[in-house]
Amino acid sequence: MRLLLVEDDPMIGETLRDLLRAQGYAVDWVADGSQGQTALAVQSYDLVLLDLGLPGCDGLVLLQGLRARKDRTPVLIATARDSVAARIAGLDAGADDYLLKPYDFDELLARIRALLRRASGRAEPLYAHQGVVLDPATREARVQGQPVALSAREWAVLEALLARPGRVLSRQQLEDKLYGWGEEISSNAVEVYIHGLRKKLGPALILNVRGLGYMVPP
Ligand code: CA
Repeated sequence: MRLLLVEDDPMIGETLRDLLRAQGYAVDWVADGSQGQTALAVQSYDLVLLDLGLPGCDGLVLLQGLRARKDRTPVLIATARDSVAARIAGLDAGADDYLLKPYDFDELLARIRALLRRASGRAEPLYAHQGVVLDPATREARVQGQPVALSAREWAVLEALLARPGRVLSRQQLEDKLYGWGEEISSNAVEVYIHGLRKKLGPALILNVRGLGYMVPP
């Protein structure tokens, strides 16, 4: 899953980026509202974590522009603007959730998981498919009830595929889910992760659709 972090406080931004990356998310961080607009114009994201008080362009203006383009990307506002009026304005501008600074990091992660779950159309918190179960909250994977250790990248590939069984994701689309800007990608990285997943989870779970990419059969 790829997240856009729009946060002008360098300390909060860097801390959040590193913590979110440690959770296996690909994270692009911009410290300016207009850079956030540019990022959203050129890259698709699974979620935007949005501060409101920003140089360049206010977070609320960024959000309004996003929704005016009928972009449905989930947006979680995380701000120090704590008035009821500000919270109402944020939600009515199209935010999906609103969190006040300072917040608890575990709560932020749970809210991110809830928004990603809703966006993928799942009601249940676990991914369960053909005997494979992933728990995004604990980041545990099981096959036929037995725990399996997956690397953060293997987890990210599998989660992207399990989010929509039957949908083919190209290598490029999977790379987009795995790596933020400036992160090194080796040319066969996705193939290596798919190979590792097949070894651990069995060869039938992930299909190679020749010339197109990979999918989990529905
Ligand atoms: Ca700010």
